[in-house]
Amino acid sequence: MFTIFGVCMLENIEKYAKEKNIPIMQKEGIEFLTDFIKKNNIKKILEIGTAIGYSAIKMALVAEDIEIISIERDYNRYQEAVKNIKLFNLENRIKLINQDAFDVEINDKFDLIFIDAAKAQSIKFFTKFENNLNNNKYIVTDNINFHGLVNSTEKMSRNLRQLVRKINNYIEFLKNNDNYITVFYDIGDGISISQKR
Ligand code: SAH
Ligand code: MG
Repeated sequence: MFTIFGVCMLENIEKYAKEKNIPIMQKEGIEFLTDFIKKNNIKKILEIGTAIGYSAIKMALVAEDIEIISIERDYNRYQEAVKNIKLFNLENRIKLINQDAFDVEINDKFDLIFIDAAKAQSIKFFTKFENNLNNNKYIVTDNINFHGLVNSTEKMSRNLRQLVRKINNYIEFLKNNDNYITVFYDIGDGISISQKR
């Protein structure tokens, strides 16, 4: 269905996100991720952090047999995502859950779990959902560089400093996790891909 209409609609979502300051994936980041999904024949995806549905739609458009469950706690963003997904006729393949991810219990197994929610909580998301990952499959995390701040010595507010420290803790957690092989990519806002052994 990739028509002029589809391209325009995606551009509208990008524009809306920019206007409303909604941190959707950066262009090269989402290109990298959708490429990865295609090359590795990923079919079942769990996304933590839908925002307005941009990355979920992009991932679903990779192939017609991809199925996604995506969780968003913010009601307004969730509603916006419902609208956008309908516009693409993807409501059969993208199931949205309007809840805090920590309150969601899922039994399904996935080929890819995409963590793109509260940046300070990545370890908790990872450990909560890793049981839902199929063997040899992938947990992908966005914003590993956090706007370049992760490696910066710049003066920051206390809150920001704490957030950066938590992202660094997550990076250490991934590096030291022997159940996965993690590769860090300096693409978009920094992406990690952890493959379950
Ligand atoms: N993946 C989206 C962007 C997500 S932005 C895209 O690229 O298009 C991050 C989103 O995670 C925000 O909308 C925020 O409300 C949501 N979020 C943060 N913590 C969450 C939690 N604990 N449970 C569910 N959603 C959460
Ligand atoms: Mg992100």
